[in-house]
Amino acid sequence: MKDKICILGSTGSIGCSTLDVIERNPDQYEVEVLTANTNAEKLAEQCKKFNPKLAVLKDENAAEELSKLLSNLGCDTKVECGEQALVNAAKFPGVATVVAAIVGAAGLMPTLAAVESGHKVLLANKEALVMSGELFINAVEKHQAVLLPVDSEHNAIFQCLPGANRQGRPEMNGVRKILLTGSGGPFRTIPISQLSEVTPDQACAHPNWDMGRKISVDSATMMNKGLELIEACYFFGVELEQIDIVVHPQSIVHSMVSYIDGSVLAQMGNPDMRTPIAHTLAWPERVNAGVEPLDFYTMSNLTFEPPDFERFPCLKLASEAMLAGGTSPCILNAANETAVAAFLDGKIAFTDIAKVIEMTLSNTTLVTADSLEKVLAADGEARRVAIDIIEKGVIV
Ligand code: NAD
Ligand code: MG
Repeated sequence: MKDKICILGSTGSIGCSTLDVIERNPDQYEVEVLTANTNAEKLAEQCKKFNPKLAVLKDENAAEELSKLLSNLGCDTKVECGEQALVNAAKFPGVATVVAAIVGAAGLMPTLAAVESGHKVLLANKEALVMSGELFINAVEKHQAVLLPVDSEHNAIFQCLPGANRQGRPEMNGVRKILLTGSGGPFRTIPISQLSEVTPDQACAHPNWDMGRKISVDSATMMNKGLELIEACYFFGVELEQIDIVVHPQSIVHSMVSYIDGSVLAQMGNPDMRTPIAHTLAWPERVNAGVEPLDFYTMSNLTFEPPDFERFPCLKLASEAMLAGGTSPCILNAANETAVAAFLDGKIAFTDIAKVIEMTLSNTTLVTADSLEKVLAADGEARRVAIDIIEKGVIV
């Protein structure tokens, strides 16, 4: 029987890569539900090709446009719109696997709905886990969902940990450290004094990975690594000090696990998200991802270095937020999303992103993150505070 798939965020970078893997393995997978924010045209194209039962757009006008496009195409996919429809999509009857690939906090409720349905959930939407932390993991356990990491580093760690082919969380037996690698992004070597002048297009031109704009900016500030640090703590149930960040500009090693006997296991591959997507789709089996294997005869040098906390203040902010606990990671994430959007809109400088986050963290109330209401309230408050800081121009 084919695995029936729902892709939350199908028109994005991860969504499209997932469809590419599915298309290569038509005997294994069937697309049941596709969702997106506003891009009716792309979603219509995807519906024509994959013929899902349901397509959801968050935006009402876009959904109307989608209905028209689909009727012109003679495609009988049902169209719905709105936030509740996204949540329902994640629980669509018959779906077994949900790919959580919405960007940002907007993905939290649909992703949680997928978890609560006890589905297999392939998590790309790291922000959902960073925001809700233990609540999310407790929901996974309570509803016996199978949570698998799409984020390439976490996928690599997962593959290198003991028991990765067994049901449930991988184990930590004999593990000394998790080594979380990151490329350092496009600004690893430019003079620090020039960082305040960089443009959104420069920030989005990642040397190795082709990704959506928000995560590309996160990679340039290394907040992406900061969010991934928090994601790894929750995902694998480890403390912050069990994880070291290792800068590896070539993005060939996707992360490593260091054991007490001196062994270090690494997962390697070309930087192409279809590999971790295919790994999680097929887990514990393997399918063709369309990714070329590494060519060790022509590969350039692999280099490794420690992270530069002066150049990348977001790394420190993320570690501190994780240590502070409670709603702090949620506030960090909301302030980051707000600041990155302002940077992409040309409202603030690249170097203001970290400043907005730091100011937001010190101007919001930190509470325990023991209910969804508290998490959503913290997210809302942090966004209001961050917008206020940006609009009043009081960034210091
Ligand atoms: P993207 O911007 O390319 O795509 C985002 C998708 O989410 C789109 O389909 C969009 O329509 C949908 N979306 C956006 N806002 C929405 C809203 N308010 N309501 C409903 N849907 C909405 O982003 P991406 O690069 O594919 O990243 C998706 C997630 O995967 C992010 O959380 C990112 O951190 C994570 N991730 C991405 C990569 C990558 O290589 N792109 C790697 C690792 C992790
Ligand atoms: Mg990653």
